[in-house]
Amino acid sequence: MTRKNEFSLRRFTLSSAVWYATVVAGWALIAVGVIEVSTTPTVELRGALIMTATLVILLELLPLMQGRGHDPGGVVTSTAFTCALLIAWGIWPAILAVSVASALSDLRMRKAWFKVFFNPAQYTLSVAAAYLVMLVAGHPSSLAHPLVALTPKDLGWIVGLWIAYFVVNLVLVAGVLAWAGTFRSEVVTDFASYTTMTFAVLALSPLIVVVARVQWQLLPLLLVPVLLLYYASQLALQRQQAEGRDTLTGLPNRSTLRFALDEAYERYGHDQQPFGLVLIDLDDFRQVNDTLGHQVGDAMLVHFAQRLQAAVRSTDLVARLGGDEFAVLVLDTDEEGVCDIAARIHAANVHPIELEALPLEIAVSIGIAVCPQHALDATMLLQRADVALYTAKETHTLSEVYSVASDHNSTERLGLLAALRQALDDDALELYYQPKVSTRDGKPVGVEALVRWFHPTRGYIPPDDFIPLAERSGIMPLLTARVVSIALDQMARWRDEGIEIPVAVNIAPTDLIGDALTYLVAQGLAEYNVAPGMLQLEITERIETHQLVAANTTLKRLRTMGVAISLDDFGTGYSSLLRLSSLPVDEIKIDRAFVCRLPEGARAVGIVRAVIDLAHTFDVPSIAEGVETADELGILRSLGCDAAQGWHVGMPMPAAEATEWLRARLTPDKIPPALPVPLTA
Ligand code: C2E
Ligand code: CA
Ligand code: CA
Repeated sequence: MTRKNEFSLRRFTLSSAVWYATVVAGWALIAVGVIEVSTTPTVELRGALIMTATLVILLELLPLMQGRGHDPGGVVTSTAFTCALLIAWGIWPAILAVSVASALSDLRMRKAWFKVFFNPAQYTLSVAAAYLVMLVAGHPSSLAHPLVALTPKDLGWIVGLWIAYFVVNLVLVAGVLAWAGTFRSEVVTDFASYTTMTFAVLALSPLIVVVARVQWQLLPLLLVPVLLLYYASQLALQRQQAEGRDTLTGLPNRSTLRFALDEAYERYGHDQQPFGLVLIDLDDFRQVNDTLGHQVGDAMLVHFAQRLQAAVRSTDLVARLGGDEFAVLVLDTDEEGVCDIAARIHAANVHPIELEALPLEIAVSIGIAVCPQHALDATMLLQRADVALYTAKETHTLSEVYSVASDHNSTERLGLLAALRQALDDDALELYYQPKVSTRDGKPVGVEALVRWFHPTRGYIPPDDFIPLAERSGIMPLLTARVVSIALDQMARWRDEGIEIPVAVNIAPTDLIGDALTYLVAQGLAEYNVAPGMLQLEITERIETHQLVAANTTLKRLRTMGVAISLDDFGTGYSSLLRLSSLPVDEIKIDRAFVCRLPEGARAVGIVRAVIDLAHTFDVPSIAEGVETADELGILRSLGCDAAQGWHVGMPMPAAEATEWLRARLTPDKIPPALPVPLTA
C-alpha cells in the first residue's frame, strides 16, 4: 500500500468516520470496563475467570496464530473464549480481555497505529452489541452475579448473541476498509468460509462456560478443538492460494493476475492512482524447448521467474500467464515508472542463465499498457498490453508502450485512420519547420520539415501517433507525396524571397521500396523549379534488412539526382555501422537519446564523440538533434559536431514564423552553403 491510498484520517470519508466513531465509543467502553472491573468488590468464580481471560490472550499471542478477523480467511479463535467470558461474567471482563489481547497481538505484529487503535475498539463494540442481546433476553450476567447454569433453552439467546457479535464486527470492518476497496477482496470473496469458521469458533463458547463452571482447570483442554479449527481454516486458505499459483514457477497465475487487475481498477476508482501492466515474452523460447528438451526449457522458466521477481519492486505482482509469457502488475506509478520497470527487466537479462554450466542467452520482448491512458478495465488493459507486446516482437524494439496506431483492431485506430484519410483529402496537414544551425557560428544551415495535424475536434495529433498508422495501413505514399509537395512549395516561396535554405523532409522506410518516391521527387523539383541540392531526405536507420537492397537502389537514384540523404535517429537502430557502410548518406543525425545524456558525463560524451568521428571518417557532416540546453550545445561544439537542432536552437515553427526566423539570421549576401556538402555521387 502506498502513501496515497493509505487510510487517511484527515479527509472526511466513510472509513474515517467509521474509524473515529468506533475508536471513541470503543475506548470509552474500555475505560468504563477498567473502572467496573477494578471496583467490583466480590468476583465470583475468580479462578475460572482468570483462566478463561488468560486463554483469550494466549490464543492471540501464540506465534502460530497468524491472521486475525478481517485478514483473508483468518479466524479469531480467541473469540470462543471472549464469548464465554461474556456469557458467564457479562460485558466488562469480556471487553477488557479482548482489547488487551487484540492490542498486544497487533503491537507484536507491528500493525499500523490506526489498526492498533481501531481493532480493540471494534471488538469492544461487537461484544457490547452481543451483550445487548443478553440484556434483552433477560440474562444480565456480571462479575458479581455470573451465569449460574446453562440449559438447552439458553441456546436461543446465545445464537442471537453470536449473530449480533458477528454482524457488528463485520459492519465495522467493512466501513473502515471501504477506503481501499479491499473489503470486497478480503472478506466478501471468501465470505462463506469466513462465516462458517467464525460460527464454528463461536459455537464452542457454551462448552467453555460449562467447563469453566464445573472444572475450570480443564479449560486448556478446549484449546485442542480451537486449534484444530484454526488449522482447518489455514489449510483451506492455503489450498485456495495454491489454486491461484502456477505449479512450475510458483508464481501467481493468470486468474490471480486477473483478480489483482480488477482490484487495481477498483482502487483506481477511489484514488485515481495510475498503474500499468507489463507483459513479457521470452524470445526464441521454443527453440530452447525443441533443441534442448522440455526439462531445460522448464528450468529456464524457473530461473527466469526468479530473475523477474528480483528485478521488480517488492510491491509489483509478478505472474506467469502460461508458456513463456509472464506479466508484472506495476502499481501506483505512471507510464514512466512502468517503463522503468521494463528497463530493469531487460537489464536483468544481460547475463545468460547458467543451466548445468550451459550458458543460455535470454532475451525478452515487452509490451506495456497503462491505466488510465490505455484502458479503463482489466480485459482491455490485458488486450492492449498484448498488442504492444506483439508490436515489440514484430519490430524488434525490446519494449513497446501501447499505441492506438499499432493496434489493428481498435476502433480508435480505425477512427483515426479514417480521419487521416479525410485530412489528406481536405489538405488539412501542415508543415512546421525546425532550424538546424552550425555549431561554429550559429548560422542556419537548414530546416527540417515536420508534419503537423490539428484535427478540428480531436485537437493536435502528434506525428508519432499517426505516422506508424499511415505506414501500416498503406497510405504512407499519399502522406509523403503531400509533405514533399508542401515542402517544395515552401522552398520555392523562400527562394523567391531570397531565402535560400536547404529543407529536410522525413521519409518512411516503406517509401524507399519501388520507384514512387524517385518519380515524386523528380516531378516536384521540376514543377517548383527547386535545385535538387536544396532538398534533403531524412531516412531512419530502422530499415528492415530484407528491404535494404531495394532501399539502396532508391537512395542511389535520388543522390544521383543531387538530393541529399540524411541518416536520422543514428544509433537507435541495429547494426548502425553496417548500415552506414552499405547505405549512401550525406549526413548523420545523432539521435536525441544520446544528446540528452551528454550532461551525464564521460560515457555519454564518449559515445557521441565516437559517432562524430565515425561520420568524419566517412567524410560526412554530423548533426545533433534534440539539443535542449546551452550546455549540450557547448559539449557538441567541443566534440566537433557540425550542426545542431533542438528546442535550444529553435522550436518547430509554422511557415510564416520560420520565414521571420530565417530572415533575421540570414544576410542576403551571405547565403550558407547547402548542408550537407554532397559527396561525389
Ligand atoms: P524525428 O525525425 O526524429 O523528428 C524530430 C522530433 O523531435 C520532432 O518530433 C521534433 O518536434 C522533436 N524535437 C525537436 N527538437 C526537440 C528537442 O529539443 N527536444 C525534444 N524532446 N524533441 C525535439 P515530432 O514533430 O513529433 O516528430 C516525431 C517523428 O515523426 C519524427 O521524428 C519523424 O520520425 C516523424 N515525422 C514527423 N514528420 C514527418 C513527416 O512529414 N513524414 C514522415 N514520414 N515522418 C514524419
Ligand atoms: Ca527527422
Ligand atoms: Ca530524429
